[in-house]
Amino acid sequence: MGRSSRGAALCFGEWTRYPRAMQEGFSNYAERVADLKRDKRRDGDVFGLAVHTSGSGILRRAREKGHSPDKIALDYYDSATYSTHFVAGHEGLYQLTDVREHVKHIGYTKGVDGKLSGSQRRAWYHSGKWAESMPEFAARWRAAWPGKASPSSLHPGKYPNGDYVAIELIPAGLGYGRTFGESYRYSLAQHVAVALVALELAGACRWPDDFEHTGRLASHEDLGPHGRVGPAGNPRDGEGWDPGRHRAEPWIAWAMIQEWIRIGRRMGIDELAGLLEVLYEADADAVSD
Ligand SMILES: [Zn+2]
Repeated sequence: MGRSSRGAALCFGEWTRYPRAMQEGFSNYAERVADLKRDKRRDGDVFGLAVHTSGSGILRRAREKGHSPDKIALDYYDSATYSTHFVAGHEGLYQLTDVREHVKHIGYTKGVDGKLSGSQRRAWYHSGKWAESMPEFAARWRAAWPGKASPSSLHPGKYPNGDYVAIELIPAGLGYGRTFGESYRYSLAQHVAVALVALELAGACRWPDDFEHTGRLASHEDLGPHGRVGPAGNPRDGEGWDPGRHRAEPWIAWAMIQEWIRIGRRMGIDELAGLLEVLYEADADAVSD
């Protein structure tokens, strides 16, 4: 079948050249869970991976219901309008949706300056007005993205959802989950899970080496900070919270994800997946001790 007729699927069409790459839109390593919602096919190739935090409401619901946060999150994303392809939980890595499907995960209308249409929002970013409305955050953002003008210049398409696969990280809190440092909200396993999914996508879609230092690996607050900076959408404190990359004390160790991608490229995806399994098992042991 020719390149044009395959469209987005072509990203995965020559997978035999990359025997351990993602096949037919599903990870070789994530646990597949049912997603009963119908999602539509993407118009273009998968450009990048966007990292998110799940809301802490997941943890409160887990407490109330006596279920694990992973179960609550998977039930939630199965039925929510805004959803995800992957969830890196406290107990494992899961995939709900074929990465060739379009999923809503980065809203582009509501936020700072109220409700704007998608194209107005893009113009707001391109004009530089976004930086005036959140100067402290913009300074942090620019330090992370030298040479980039705005969130919209991180990716080629009109809207992030068209370009990105989503991975949600369930935060630690309320006695759930483990972190490796006081300010962090996610476990070592969750950082490695992001690296693994990124490498699988990179193999399937032939992203260039060093993609982890480009817009192909970004967070929700990098791509759509209008709704992800400051409490209740008030951006004046300059602190991103989805997933908390750009903060005085970051919640996520972004450089460590990049480092695991570099190491995983060298050690091999199978080996990195094996390591991830060990990390999740060790977390389970620590919880039951
Ligand atoms: Zn998000």
